[in-house]
Amino acid sequence: MKLVVLGSGTSVPHPQRASSGFWLETAGGSLLLDASAPAVHRVAQEGLDWVNLDAIWISHFHLDHVGGLAPFLFGTKYAPQTQARRKPLTIYGPRGLKKLFEAFDQANDYGLLQQPFPIELREVAPREKFDIFSELRAETFSTPHTSESLALRLQEESGGASFVYTSDTGYTEALAEFARGVDLFLMECSFPHSKPVESHLELRDAMRLAELAAPRRVMLAHLYPQWDGTDVAAKAKKLWPGETIEARDGMEIVVSSQ
Ligand SMILES: [Zn+2]
Ligand SMILES: [Zn+2]
Repeated sequence: MKLVVLGSGTSVPHPQRASSGFWLETAGGSLLLDASAPAVHRVAQEGLDWVNLDAIWISHFHLDHVGGLAPFLFGTKYAPQTQARRKPLTIYGPRGLKKLFEAFDQANDYGLLQQPFPIELREVAPREKFDIFSELRAETFSTPHTSESLALRLQEESGGASFVYTSDTGYTEALAEFARGVDLFLMECSFPHSKPVESHLELRDAMRLAELAAPRRVMLAHLYPQWDGTDVAAKAKKLWPGETIEARDGMEIVVSSQ
């Protein structure tokens, strides 16, 4: 798989870090992990094939993760590039996704489900196992962040790469168990220290989860401006000896099982 960081930041407007969005290219298709408002244009900026995007994952309903969903579909409804598209787009997310989507859609009769191509909204439950593509298995985990928030674990078929995206989460050791041994553990790490809320991680929490989960590599994202001017990877190394990557907008990495 190939991962492109669209947004390594949060809800706070920031000159270098857009709010949450990651592009995952897999053998079975492309997947947008969270759809923040800036992610809609970041995909074009990175030269990614948004016209043929296969699926979207919404982790939870905070606007720095879902605020671009309706605008993206407003774009695909009218953009010249998508008028000839007939391939379906599937949007996965927690229970309540359909209700939220309808609220967006009915706010002004946008008709966002009437597209040149079919769209399916699929709500998934905690611990549900499903196939995103025929070659990509998925499982969810209920995170201590909001009532609906979900982490996602992906596994490519037949010994391919594995990947966990926590999205926003508080600390729980069960999350390390869920992420055990993955090739890339993409974790939120909102704050360096002294986190103001329990529903996010600070560095010590994230590195403790890394130690327990023993992934091949860790990537830290959802970085609040409190991180500005800090070498995130160097700080992480002091707490966990494995490889930690600081997510930066525009970064591209290959996730493999070797
Ligand atoms: Zn967030
Ligand atoms: Zn959140």
